[in-house]
Amino acid sequence: MTQRAIRAPAMTFRGDPFHLAPGEALQYWPDALILIEDGKFLRIDDAESGLAVLPGDVALTHYPDALICPGFIDAHVHYPQMQMIGAFGAGLLEWLDKYTFVAEQDFADAAHARDVAKRFLRELLRAGTTTASVYCTVHPQSVDALFEESVRFNTRMIAGKVMMDRNAPEALLDTAESGYAQSKALIEKWHGRGRQLYCITPRFAPSSTEAQLEAAGRLWREHPGTYVQTHLSENQGEIEWVRQLFPERSSYLDVYDHAGLTGPRAIFGHAVHMEEEDFACCHRTGSALAHCPTSNLFLGSGLFRMFDAKKVERPVRVGLGTDIGAGTSFSQLQTLGEAYKVAKLGGHALTAEQGFYLATRGGAEALRLDDRIGSLAPGYEADFVVLDLKATPLLEFRLSHARDLAETLFVLMTLGDDRAIRATYIAGEPVYERDRAESFVYPEPTP
Ligand SMILES: [Zn+2]
Repeated sequence: MTQRAIRAPAMTFRGDPFHLAPGEALQYWPDALILIEDGKFLRIDDAESGLAVLPGDVALTHYPDALICPGFIDAHVHYPQMQMIGAFGAGLLEWLDKYTFVAEQDFADAAHARDVAKRFLRELLRAGTTTASVYCTVHPQSVDALFEESVRFNTRMIAGKVMMDRNAPEALLDTAESGYAQSKALIEKWHGRGRQLYCITPRFAPSSTEAQLEAAGRLWREHPGTYVQTHLSENQGEIEWVRQLFPERSSYLDVYDHAGLTGPRAIFGHAVHMEEEDFACCHRTGSALAHCPTSNLFLGSGLFRMFDAKKVERPVRVGLGTDIGAGTSFSQLQTLGEAYKVAKLGGHALTAEQGFYLATRGGAEALRLDDRIGSLAPGYEADFVVLDLKATPLLEFRLSHARDLAETLFVLMTLGDDRAIRATYIAGEPVYERDRAESFVYPEPTP
């Protein structure tokens, strides 16, 4: 039994601030004592009462001028696209052809995949992200590389092999049969191994035949507990293309629904151009959406309608995605800053509480992991971030004028980035400490 104690201000969500008053949804400890045992939170108390009962032999780390929150959750990200962030001038379909499909071919080389996977996990941790739903490439070795690195850090990752059997370069194509067989072998190898979870990953409807989408749906039904992720209604040209490829379907989402790819643990990236019936389908089936504001702005795709998605009559689960590399930052703080602007252009003000909820507990709800991550609560896996309220001279000065927690959080959404992440803990272990000589340390493997 290993115990560790952390003292710092801390916050977590008990409910959804889109539907509850901030005071009901958010719990805040101005000075908390967090006790961790064997990788999970044992208790969270006010420091005064927690210190009074803390056994003398438990290591205590104190972070003044900080704020602890649950680890950030990235509901949509492509690790192979790290090498092409900031590719100039294209809309979605041209961007895929010109840049993405070129970069992804490099992942046939397992050594290249391992190198990028290693850098990717470090960027996530540097940004305070402790769980992500990750697209690999069509190559099974790209999935192995990602999960192998995640096992080293003991992070909870969701990932899968991209399936594509048409409308992509020959070198990136599988078939309905080989995509099914390779994905099945990867599920058997990785799903539920430690904290790793498998995600069946048809890239998007235009690059999969109906036979492949149906095979993906069959595979999902055969392996309860696995995930499905794909793209949905990102761009008008893409939507028109789907209409031509699947003329018998009533909408883009109906293509997936028809193939049995909607339901709990289905995550649809973007969903920018949605009809009421699409939101209703997501609500009815329990499917989740990943809002990727930096990507939608970068490619000029459009404005996600967060407040429509979250309508109280038929709420849809929504997580926040960076969508690297159409997205432009690994930081969920920067992503929230852009989510605020996207909502504002749509006539709504996204509060700081709503923002931080999306990045933590809301993301966990979207990924159906809200019984184990996304909150600071006894029994939960101890993945959390230490935010540095004095990370930069500007942040320190600005926050010295903040009147309350909501303002502090909103300024973090506006000015914060990876510099504001002082430490990232995975299952109770400080695997990333910004100011440590060796910033990244693999935890001791658990026996
Ligand atoms: Zn994407």
